[in-house]
Amino acid sequence: MELTPADLHTHSTFSDGTTTLEQIAAIAGSAGMAVGVADHCGPGSFQLDSDERFRRYFEAVSRHPVYRSVELDLGREINVSRENLKRCDYLIGGVHSLGGRDFFDGAQAWTDIPGLLDGILAAIDEKARIFDFDILAHPGLLPASLRSRQSALLDSRWDQRLIGLALEHGFALEISSRWQVPSAGTIRRAAAAGVTFALGSDAHRPEQVCRLDHSLSLAAACGLTDADLFRPARQLAEKIA
Ligand SMILES: [Zn+2]
Ligand SMILES: [Zn+2]
Repeated sequence: MELTPADLHTHSTFSDGTTTLEQIAAIAGSAGMAVGVADHCGPGSFQLDSDERFRRYFEAVSRHPVYRSVELDLGREINVSRENLKRCDYLIGGVHSLGGRDFFDGAQAWTDIPGLLDGILAAIDEKARIFDFDILAHPGLLPASLRSRQSALLDSRWDQRLIGLALEHGFALEISSRWQVPSAGTIRRAAAAGVTFALGSDAHRPEQVCRLDHSLSLAAACGLTDADLFRPARQLAEKIA
């Protein structure tokens, strides 16, 4: 069993994280782990919501021995050009909202569950066609008010449709330490179908950076090896080692 961990999903002070780029690079260096910064990209004050903001972000991240990425909100319009986004080492997409309704707002009630589950897959499919993102963040993470029931709501038919999209578009499924999705069953089915995976802390605070305990133990339990993991093509500066 061989797994070389890389934390490909962290947030900095350029979006809603409290960790500076300097801190992220230093923590990853101490951990001896490759790290990627993927700040939120979409409309809204805490996000990278224009080409100008993206440019400042990209230049800043480029000064550190870290991968350069963003996390696109697949449920919203993206206000940064595709050409700019393609300068990243890889792109992450995650469904954080649908129809203007925020998945992280616990007060939002979702009554049309089949419509929601179809909508999530449709948003992934639509944005994958446009942006060709590399990693799907926290697959199967449902709105806050449904989260306690999400493993029951996501049946094997939904899983198969998600796996079909991953194969069709070639994106990896993230095994998220923060949100503890997807399930071991989903990972095993996806791996058997030939899907690749990525590990992510989804860190928003310094103590969360490179904390991949859940992702690593689940990946090992499902028999994944380095051959199953997505890797950015660029070599990071030797400062990491
Ligand atoms: Zn996310
Ligand atoms: Zn995130």
